[in-house]
Amino acid sequence: MKTGEDFSWSDARGELDGLPRDRGLNIAYEAVDRHARGSAGDRVAFRFLSKGGEIREMTYRELSEETNRFANALRTLDVAPGETIFLLAGRIPELYVAALGALKARAVVCPLFSAFGPEPIRSRMEIGDARVLVTTTALFRRKVASWRDELPELSHVLLADATTEQASGTRGGTSLRALLDTADPEYTIEPTDPEDPALLHFTSGTTGTPKGALHVHEAVVGHHVTGRSALSLREGDVFWCTADPGWVTGTSYGLVSPLTNGVTSVVDEQEFDSERWYRILEEQGVNVWYTAPTAVRMLMKSGDELPRRFDLSRLRFIASVGEPLNPEAVEWSQRVLDRPIHDNWWQTETGGIMIANVEGMEIRPGSMGRPLPGIEAAIGRRTDGGADLIEDPDVEGELILRKGWPSMFRTYLHEEGRYRSCFSGEWYFTGDLARRDPDGYYWFVGRADDVIKSAGHLIGPFEVESALIEHPAVAEAAVIGKPDPVVGETVKAFVALHPGQEESEDLLLEILGHARSRLGSVAAPKEITFLDDLPKTRSGKTLRRLLKARELGTPEGDTSTLEEPS
Ligand code: AMP
Repeated sequence: MKTGEDFSWSDARGELDGLPRDRGLNIAYEAVDRHARGSAGDRVAFRFLSKGGEIREMTYRELSEETNRFANALRTLDVAPGETIFLLAGRIPELYVAALGALKARAVVCPLFSAFGPEPIRSRMEIGDARVLVTTTALFRRKVASWRDELPELSHVLLADATTEQASGTRGGTSLRALLDTADPEYTIEPTDPEDPALLHFTSGTTGTPKGALHVHEAVVGHHVTGRSALSLREGDVFWCTADPGWVTGTSYGLVSPLTNGVTSVVDEQEFDSERWYRILEEQGVNVWYTAPTAVRMLMKSGDELPRRFDLSRLRFIASVGEPLNPEAVEWSQRVLDRPIHDNWWQTETGGIMIANVEGMEIRPGSMGRPLPGIEAAIGRRTDGGADLIEDPDVEGELILRKGWPSMFRTYLHEEGRYRSCFSGEWYFTGDLARRDPDGYYWFVGRADDVIKSAGHLIGPFEVESALIEHPAVAEAAVIGKPDPVVGETVKAFVALHPGQEESEDLLLEILGHARSRLGSVAAPKEITFLDDLPKTRSGKTLRRLLKARELGTPEGDTSTLEEPS
């Protein structure tokens, strides 16, 4: 693979096959079929570790057949290219089969976190014009059933664990297994324009509804080469990406990139558990491991002795993403695991890794690394129609990227204006503040907006506030991220009650419970403080920053626009 100066995206595209007879580029073909047809057909593509301890392996050839069946099933269900398939199932084989099968059928795939509560799921499926939902009976009952009838466009609910008889109790419900069993295992992917939409991932901003970042089939070029450059994937490797596909990392690097690179991707259905994780690294012979800082900090908490009980000699490369990786974590890994952790940076909108500490490069603990080949990053400030680049080292500004890499999002679904406002001239504004040192390493400083990063999840304060004010006692709510040594930030809410409502411990617990049942464990606040009034600007905007400064005891900054308390 070419790197550095001689890198070009068109050469990178040449590393992929493209659909036979020049019929375009399809992610699922590059990930599955091109291996299935060749000598790699018998290689294990996925090794699924179930919660119950069973291991299910699926070779590239088997995966090709299963995904063909799913693509054919969509045809029988009259699902057209461009329609959206939502996946809400946890990390089970059916989710991966459905994702790749839907891509073959040129449908758009949107995986969701199963830890989301009913409200984030409903709003995302509504914005995303869900046509099909692939889920399990339990998740459907707990998170979807109560509002299912509000989405008339949702024609099919495919239940991964139900028989035909069991599924018949659900409106539009079908047994996924029965559907696959009767579907043809042969399928020819129709011509796919590289610009055809493929993947939809929701992310959050400070205000408004969740944003659906839409990616196209061309993104596979980025997924493929960054798997090699940033994660050091080599054909035949065993690779474990611990992220859930509900987060873009679990799709780009848990699903697409490992397969295009012909490796075996380990998928663990279970949630974090230190001992289990070390055991997986040993027993599965993981060569490359991609995880997140919160998980690393939890491993650190479980002590230095535990990893020494396991043979991690097969582990060649460790990388992490999603939040700042503290220098201590890199040093801990070097000392205890005998290898450093290579931090890298990207976000939902970029679709793939942009900045990384790559293999062989000097790691500066605490730095996100340097831009990958083909990526031009800068520190800048927005100007009318462009950007002012800050050339001096070690000066803070917004991290910006020159647009045009293959996995760049193509729009926010139904929100073209919001999409366009991320760009100025040739530059994409990431919303992150950073600085670059004299040697070109980038250092994360913070977010330019009020979004919260908790355990790697980006949480929009507005979505949480909206759920809080649905509680009858709550008049107003504001939400901030409160620094936490393990998960980065926790969600903290400030709440003003309606006149006549009494503050009490019981009410506080009730509001916490309400938020948790609406939002799920990922986004619900962990802490609530009652306030008589929330500080606002004269124009009525809640000043989350001021609340945060007061909470942390840091300077309050400019309060000249603050409304006089009533
Ligand atoms: P998401 O779109 O949910 O993947 O979140 C992307 C955001 O996570 C970025 O804009 C950053 O704020 C943060 N992030 C991702 N990777 C890193 C990293 N290596 N260091 C610091 N923050 C990161």
